[in-house]
Amino acid sequence: MNYKNSKDIFEKAVNIIPGGVNSPVRAFKSVEKEFPIFVKSANKAHLMDEDGNKYIDFIQSWGPMILGHNDERVIKAVQAAVLDGCSFGLPTKKEVELAELIISMVPSIEKVRLTTSGTEATMAAVRVARAYTKKNKILKFEGCYHGHSDSLLVAAGSGLLTEGYQDSNGLTEGVLKDTLTLPFGNLEKVEKLMEKEEIACIIVEPIPANMGLIETKKEYLEGLRKLCTEHNTLLIFDEVISGFRIAAGGAQEHYGITPDLTTLGKIIGGGYPVGAFGGKREIMDMIAPVGDVYHAGTLSGNPISVTAGFETLSILKNTPSLYTDLEAKVDYIVEGIYKLSEKYNVPVCVNKAGSLFTIFFTDKKKVETLEDVMASDTTKYSKYFNAMLENGVVVPPSKFEAHFMGATHNEEILNETLSAMEKAFIEISK
Ligand code: PMP
Repeated sequence: MNYKNSKDIFEKAVNIIPGGVNSPVRAFKSVEKEFPIFVKSANKAHLMDEDGNKYIDFIQSWGPMILGHNDERVIKAVQAAVLDGCSFGLPTKKEVELAELIISMVPSIEKVRLTTSGTEATMAAVRVARAYTKKNKILKFEGCYHGHSDSLLVAAGSGLLTEGYQDSNGLTEGVLKDTLTLPFGNLEKVEKLMEKEEIACIIVEPIPANMGLIETKKEYLEGLRKLCTEHNTLLIFDEVISGFRIAAGGAQEHYGITPDLTTLGKIIGGGYPVGAFGGKREIMDMIAPVGDVYHAGTLSGNPISVTAGFETLSILKNTPSLYTDLEAKVDYIVEGIYKLSEKYNVPVCVNKAGSLFTIFFTDKKKVETLEDVMASDTTKYSKYFNAMLENGVVVPPSKFEAHFMGATHNEEILNETLSAMEKAFIEISK
């Protein structure tokens, strides 16, 4: 492939934007590439870069584009909304309609507040939890990522794991002291910690997707729910990825577990910037202007984003078969990967959940912990990424992320993907 234009743009970008990108994983540093591809446009399951190369897209904007890029129904709604004005700083009926729709879909949410990003949603949810329980400390799990607010950047996943550190620099001692961390999946450790510490909330990705995808056991989430209830600790499900993706009602619907608060993002904006947090009425009523926990935002509930989100969620709500289709497509690819693994003697373990999957290059039969993820082969993952890119498929540039399947990935695209994967496996086996 020819990448001249991307290279030229990157050379300019790197002098004026830190690392040349506005979010670290985009830099492709982890896969030993000198520069990333710069995207010009996208359509359905494909991306086009500045050099005119076309790729099948398994990043899907890291989740929002579940319907595929440029869904005609969403575009039409957005085009109409733009003509009405793009931001008012005053409430709109559309925000209320989106709130109603979210409440109708996510089982635990009785009241919801819109934000502009997932980061703001988790940041505000933690603040509310502290106010509600009158406790300071929070518990999160190593390798889970909840956005980039200070207290959630301790032992965080995603780009921090990719870059090789887990706590961001620039956090105060107070923040580090108040954010307790434990490995994901070990209930006994949570139980012991809660006996000696006063904890305002446990925040968890119910299906972690920021240390690569980890398959969650229902009993673990049930255990967290029980412990939180016993200790007057709020359980926050961070469903920024799993929301509207694992099921129309997110992981909480899939597992039948009711968190106290839920954070949302990505899909609820249909590709435009929105986040949300919601939960029990009495907890949400602590937020200003009803209560004295402050949360605000100039662009919160932006009418364009809300329109795209409303259209996207409506489609998801009214097309339940979409979820079984997505899962079947993932099964098809994962089956194909295991066949290639055997054929070329490249051992892998593939984790999957709904429309998400991650390939770990490892001899282990199961990848269940961050330790297992860390032990999987990064060099082979790099080779995989590079071979896929060369063969026209964009996959996550780090083993600490998930592949996202979308509604517009059709049979032909899946078979093209498997052909590219075959070439990648041949490369890795050399
Ligand atoms: N929570 C989770 C689980 C996420 O995956 C992310 C982003 N990848 C966030 C929160 C933060 O969302 P945003 O990037 O929209 O701030």
